[in-house]
Amino acid sequence: MRAIDFDQASDPASAIRLVQQPNTKFIGGGTNLLDLMKGDVEQPLRLVDINHIGLDQITELPGGGLRIGALARNSDTANHALVRSRYPLLTQALLSGASPQLRNMATIGGNLLQRTRCPYFMDTAFAMCNKRAPGSGCGAREGYNRMHAILGASSACIAVNPSDMNVALVALDAVIQVSGPKGERSIPIAGFHRLPGTMPQVDTVLQPAELITAVDLPPPAFTRHTHYLKVRERNSYAFALVSAAAALDMIGATVRQARIALGGVAHKPWRVPAAEALLAGQALDEARCRQAARVLLDGAQAFRDNGFKIQLAERAVVRALLEAGESA
Ligand code: SF4
Repeated sequence: MRAIDFDQASDPASAIRLVQQPNTKFIGGGTNLLDLMKGDVEQPLRLVDINHIGLDQITELPGGGLRIGALARNSDTANHALVRSRYPLLTQALLSGASPQLRNMATIGGNLLQRTRCPYFMDTAFAMCNKRAPGSGCGAREGYNRMHAILGASSACIAVNPSDMNVALVALDAVIQVSGPKGERSIPIAGFHRLPGTMPQVDTVLQPAELITAVDLPPPAFTRHTHYLKVRERNSYAFALVSAAAALDMIGATVRQARIALGGVAHKPWRVPAAEALLAGQALDEARCRQAARVLLDGAQAFRDNGFKIQLAERAVVRALLEAGESA
């Protein structure tokens, strides 16, 4: 057994000061971190509780957008009246994740930082995992890789980002607000999560001791025609094999602008603007949706057990777009 020190921060500034002690981590809902600590994947010596630093509010921004505090719970966010009415794609994605109990605890900031569920990463009995033990190799590349990436993988890591929320946030062009020892900064979500490259142990561009304070959503453009399609092994409490977030701004049967993002296929949510451009100004039909899906999946590469994902992802994109077109 290892002793763990526990500090309770009272505001963001004290949280950032406290987390600069050696081997220290923030803890919010703890739904991912505590699991990783129980499995010895994470071994902090000190935790800084950030649940009481006043970042759990959801407020309107002056320009018409919405600010979601980093400590807002997934359930509260999904069911918030302004989120439901203005960003239904986010509600759909959040409610497809985890279980009601986990959603009641998990926070928006923590969801952004969820770690991969690659079994070689989650179980320290496996010697090889570059993400958990840099330089040890990747057990999944030549091993069991049914859940793994088909896009953006590297020779060092083929893991996927497990979050549903992140896929919707990428489609919605969210901006992550961050505070740290060097001040505050805003990070567009498309640049927040990293591809694995040669450093798969680094999931995001966050710097040491930086604290996510909020997620900002731009003024709503996709309130009527959205669909989050999650394909998984069972109907609830399972991670996506593939997911597709589709949001359309339509005039009659014509698409004015489109957003499509894929989950379960890469180390970060996958979005390709050229695929969306194919739909703009066009009537929404199956052939065009398939064309967009193929652009989105250009360069996809399968490993031993996950070849099915390429066709599954294409079909998921087509169906999500067509469902979005019909929803209102
Ligand atoms: Fe580790 Fe990534 Fe390989 Fe999984 S895919 S074993 S997380 S290096």
